[in-house]
Amino acid sequence: MAFHLPFTDNLALVQSISPTPIPNPYWVGFSASVANLLGIPTTDNLPINPDYLNLLAGNQSHIGDQSYKTYATAYSGHQFGSWAGQLGDGRAIYLGDIHGQEVQLKGAGQTAYSRMGDGRAVLRSSIREFLCSEAMHFLGVPTSRALAVVGSDMLVMRESPETTAVCTRVAPSFLRIGHIEHYGHNQMWHELSLTLDYLIEHHYPECHHSPTPYLALLDQISLKTARMVAKWQSLGFCHGVLNTDNTSLLGLTLDYGPFGFLDQFQVDHICNHSDHGGRYSYHRQPEILHWNIYCLASAMLQPLQQELKRVRGIDGDEAIEYIKNTLNNYNKEYVKTWQTLFRKKLGLSTESEQDITLLEELLQTLHREKVDFTLFFRNLSEGLGVPTSMNSWYDTYKERLDIDKQSTDRRLESMQAVNPKYVLRNHLAQHAIELAQKKDFSEVSRLLKILEDPFTNQAVPESYALGPPPELAAISISCSS
Ligand code: AMP
Ligand code: MG
Ligand code: MG
Repeated sequence: MAFHLPFTDNLALVQSISPTPIPNPYWVGFSASVANLLGIPTTDNLPINPDYLNLLAGNQSHIGDQSYKTYATAYSGHQFGSWAGQLGDGRAIYLGDIHGQEVQLKGAGQTAYSRMGDGRAVLRSSIREFLCSEAMHFLGVPTSRALAVVGSDMLVMRESPETTAVCTRVAPSFLRIGHIEHYGHNQMWHELSLTLDYLIEHHYPECHHSPTPYLALLDQISLKTARMVAKWQSLGFCHGVLNTDNTSLLGLTLDYGPFGFLDQFQVDHICNHSDHGGRYSYHRQPEILHWNIYCLASAMLQPLQQELKRVRGIDGDEAIEYIKNTLNNYNKEYVKTWQTLFRKKLGLSTESEQDITLLEELLQTLHREKVDFTLFFRNLSEGLGVPTSMNSWYDTYKERLDIDKQSTDRRLESMQAVNPKYVLRNHLAQHAIELAQKKDFSEVSRLLKILEDPFTNQAVPESYALGPPPELAAISISCSS
């Protein structure tokens, strides 16, 4: 069987480990769309082959005569800006490679890297990861996907006892900046270059043609990351824990924890209640991911410097300056993508110098008036106007539309294709979780179905599109998962 990772038999880097079984597993959620991606036949939104329940529970490692060689990988990282050394992966076990995708069981029991942890994930956080992965995918954001959540009545200890679950997640690669940092920090130069070469071969083939492939790789990773975070900003998505170990090397949204979609627009919104300083607040996400890319560059500095010396004949400070210049591309890409996305949100088919001011004034007004971010853009897209407190901005916008020369129908149609009606607001996820904790999983399926088609008005209660009722407005999510 072909493995994605270049080092699955390198015991310095991976542990060959079986998942720990859970008692009496049951389906909590299942995505037929992801099953289809993996070539798993389904009927009535579940696999035809009932053995998948045991496979995805971690209770068996084969389906028919196909057996999976399961393993876990170690990585390190910077948490909240400080080097934390080796910290992952204490609870995600790879099933390996299915249809060109890596498949992981998150919460499948302890590994050699679990430190003090139990290797488990709770039902609450597993449902959040499952639903949000799929919501983000259908919003057009690069992300890991989720095939299923399998539950069990087994209890694990968190702030209070909670039932456990296993979330099956799927991505072309789960490699993170933290992997590169792990190899760089431990001076595992061979493994570091193996991994960089693997990334180029499988995920960044265009870098082969560069005279400096490693620098090109760094550049391409940074550009993908910039485009990803620009998408987040345009949808009001806050990740919550943007540590380097949660930052993908493929520019994918990874490791859904205390994330949140903005209800009322507040640029400095913090969705993670452990983030006291607001390091990972909404408006800092682009800057923080750039910082993470600097961590990546510094972890791969040795091969980068060797390459620059060999190919360009430069070293020392000159080489560092050269790398820093490359890292500036991130800012340009972010700004360019951000502007493009927000112009689309406003239905502007042309560029005008005044657009930046128009956008800045819009965000300032949304912030000052605490307007619901998703609803504002959706209502604008449906020709429903703006709250009266925003009339002065609206007048400027209408003047701008006059010079855009697109028909109203076309403009509204294009806006509806980028301004979602449905996002995974925290109170919606919370409602599905509370029912699931009472063994009613219908709301998980229902939400999944709604979120699979976020840009279409659906025949569901309007409350799915609305912000939370006041008493649920301040849900704050902890890291404990
Ligand atoms: P996070 O902040 O959620 O990204 O977690 C950082 C790392 O901590 C992850 O890579 C996990 O491997 C590890 N971890 C989190 N929870 C547990 C747990 N219950 N048992 C073992 N390891 C864990
Ligand atoms: Mg993580
Ligand atoms: Mg996590």
